[in-house]
Amino acid sequence: IPIERYRNFCIVAHIDHGKSTLSDRLLEYTGTIKPGDGNKQVLDKLDVERERGITVKAQTCTMLYKHPKTGLDYMLHLVDTPGHVDFRAEVTRSYASCEGALLLVDASQGVQAQTVANFYLAFARGLGMVPVINKIDLPTSDVERVVEQLRTGFELPVGENGEGCCLVSAKTGKGIGDVLPAVVEKIPPPTGDPKAPLKMLLVDSWYDNFRGVVLLVRVFEGTIKPGDNLISFATGNKYTVGEVGIQYPNSTPQTMLRAGQVGYVFFNPGMKRIQDAKIGDTFTNVGSEKVVEPYPGFEEPKPMVFVAAFPTNQDDYNKLADSMAHLTLNDRSVTLMKDHSEALGAGWRLGFLGSLHCSVFQDRLRQEHGSEIIITEPAVPSKIVWKNGKETIITNPADFPEPEDPKFRHEGTVYEPIVNATLTLPEEYLGRVIELCEAARGTQVSIEFFHGTQVILKYKLPTASLVDDLFGKLKGATKGYATLDYEDAGWREAQLVKLNLLVNKHPVDAITRVVHTSQVERLGRQWVTKFKEHVDRQMFEVIIQAAVGRKIVARETLKPFRKDVLAKLHASDITRRKKLLERQKEGRKRLRTVGNVTIDQSSFQKFLSK
Ligand code: GDP
Ligand code: MG
Repeated sequence: IPIERYRNFCIVAHIDHGKSTLSDRLLEYTGTIKPGDGNKQVLDKLDVERERGITVKAQTCTMLYKHPKTGLDYMLHLVDTPGHVDFRAEVTRSYASCEGALLLVDASQGVQAQTVANFYLAFARGLGMVPVINKIDLPTSDVERVVEQLRTGFELPVGENGEGCCLVSAKTGKGIGDVLPAVVEKIPPPTGDPKAPLKMLLVDSWYDNFRGVVLLVRVFEGTIKPGDNLISFATGNKYTVGEVGIQYPNSTPQTMLRAGQVGYVFFNPGMKRIQDAKIGDTFTNVGSEKVVEPYPGFEEPKPMVFVAAFPTNQDDYNKLADSMAHLTLNDRSVTLMKDHSEALGAGWRLGFLGSLHCSVFQDRLRQEHGSEIIITEPAVPSKIVWKNGKETIITNPADFPEPEDPKFRHEGTVYEPIVNATLTLPEEYLGRVIELCEAARGTQVSIEFFHGTQVILKYKLPTASLVDDLFGKLKGATKGYATLDYEDAGWREAQLVKLNLLVNKHPVDAITRVVHTSQVERLGRQWVTKFKEHVDRQMFEVIIQAAVGRKIVARETLKPFRKDVLAKLHASDITRRKKLLERQKEGRKRLRTVGNVTIDQSSFQKFLSK
């Protein structure tokens, strides 16, 4: 098949608008997969993605398609894109390997936040756009409204009666036959010279036990075949190609990949470390480094949400270490550092792209370890810019300076990460949503009325507000109608302080948080009340306080055992202590001491779980 008959495309959609279902239908339609053979959602490969109905990694699937009008065969590469906003960077990368996109909109929902944000991303890359309106089988579908949104909102060449749009039901299969002719006719073919030196973009990668790191690539110029010697521009490493192929729908070896194709490559010997596969890297033939101009590459996404994880029992440290290593092997976007907490012992600090990414990972850890693991509350990083221009990024709240620290007081300015957020909602909820965004310390950027009753609202919001479930609150306030999309927007100065929980004057490092001054009172109150509930009484009075530096903002007292009980207990207390010491010797170190107070690990666990 000549390059003029290749098409590389992706699907631009809001989550749940039917991207995976439509992909399956197209694969069935072209006979790439058998209909209804339980091979549902071929592109959502990782189990966790299937479970949560989200796509985390870009996958591709090749289809062969005979165009009914011309009778010619086409090779279509459908590149799947991650469905959640935390993976925005991956979406951008996937777009870089395509010439076009299906702009998929749910007929009953209309254009939503991710439709808007992803449309502009795809538009900025100059992708050819095929509008597809899905779920026309639903009684609540309003095709006319969506057509109007596409016409006036996105200025797409769509007729008043939906001419130029594919109207489909990915569920029933209605209208599916119109989609691929539109792909062939409206999306330009790739260009590139198969005889030129190789120029290949690394789009994604994953680890395979047998083959090493497998690369998902887009060949822009030249040809790649087994035995070729390649060099990476990013690392300078050289490799010999072991196998090339396409996903059809599973890995299918080919004699070569040519300019214009999207496929997979692995090396022989295999690439060992996923870190060596730099997404956005350019590869060429050894010897052609001088003549090939590499792509600019992509920015590495920064972790934006951090948690610390500790084994409930320190004896499980190695077991947990193994599964951490296993879980991060295929998810390069998780950062992993050793951490130590006075209250919880040895553990790890983990960084994620966003709150969903974080909760997906937590789910996986919990599936494997259940109650054997304690995870601290998610927190965003903060940054201190010093007078001399130096910067400190703080990912562990315990490292945040106290307000009394003289250097910090005189020379430090605090910044917090913020996002550019796009929200869509029906107009009737506008007041309520603005209130929530303002309460979340957002600053409004724009309001746009998007065809009739739908509003597109842009805000700069603290990343911390997303971790505090702003989205949940928005959903609650709008009967579920509000949608949200966001991308990293750098740092903004903020009045942040470190809130400590003190137990008999001693800070509990695992519970420390960096918060905005406006939250101090409320959170402090909440902490002391909740902590009191979960900590066992001691032989003496325990004072639980929330404090910012030396300033106490909330306090509770946990009374000691009553005297008479104490008297009776006295004898047995000694044996109890002995038992305890023995238990510790056995290595069952569930009890921890903070200051002079003994706290069961399960108290932390209960305190930290919602
Ligand atoms: P994605 O998040 O964009 O990948 O969306 P999915 O393909 O997972 O679809 C989300 C939900 O919408 C699923 O429950 C699908 O069964 C349903 N769905 C997808 N297409 C249609 C359709 O054409 N009609 C109806 N009624 N439901 C659909
Ligand atoms: Mg999906």
